Amino acid sequence: MRILITEDEKDLADALATGLRRQGYAVDIAYDGEQALLLAEVNSYDLIILDLNLPKVDGIKVCSTLRGWGSSAGILMLTARAGLDDRIKGLDQGADDYLVKPFHFPELLARVRAILRREGDSRKPILRAGDLMLDSNALRASVKDTPVMLTAKEFGILEYLIRNAGRVVSQEELLEHVWGEEANAFTQSIKVHITNIRKKLSLAGGEGLISTMKGKGYLIG
Ligand code: CA
Repeated sequence: MRILITEDEKDLADALATGLRRQGYAVDIAYDGEQALLLAEVNSYDLIILDLNLPKVDGIKVCSTLRGWGSSAGILMLTARAGLDDRIKGLDQGADDYLVKPFHFPELLARVRAILRREGDSRKPILRAGDLMLDSNALRASVKDTPVMLTAKEFGILEYLIRNAGRVVSQEELLEHVWGEEANAFTQSIKVHITNIRKKLSLAGGEGLISTMKGKGYLIG
């Protein structure tokens, strides 16, 4: 799941990005509204965290522009305590929820998960493919009740493949949704991660869960 953080307080933006990456999300950051729109135009985000008080283009305008484009990304607004008018305007412009600053990270994480779940059946916290079970809230995986210890990236790859079960997912698509704009991502690193995931799954009795479609990508189910 790929998230865009739009926040001009650099320390806050960077801390949120670190926290969300640890949870296995792919995270990009925009430090002003203009940059947010540029990024949202070329990338497909599952969720956008949007501060309302931003330089260049304010958050309300970013929100209405995104919805005007037909973007279905979840939008979580960050607002100042006194900003009741802003909150109402933001919800009117299509934001899904808001969080008042200052907030604790676990609260933000809970809102993020709730919005991602709201998008429908495919966003359920417990995901299954054959004998494999993923709990996307607890970041736990198991095969027939045998726990599988995955890194955050490995979890992100499996989660994306299961949410798109039955469809071949290309390496480029995995890069976009699991890595975001992190510089160190190449298709070669996907191969390495898939190899490691397969080893871990086989050890737990889940052989052959991920199929390779030569030249096209990977498939579950
Ligand atoms: Ca701000």
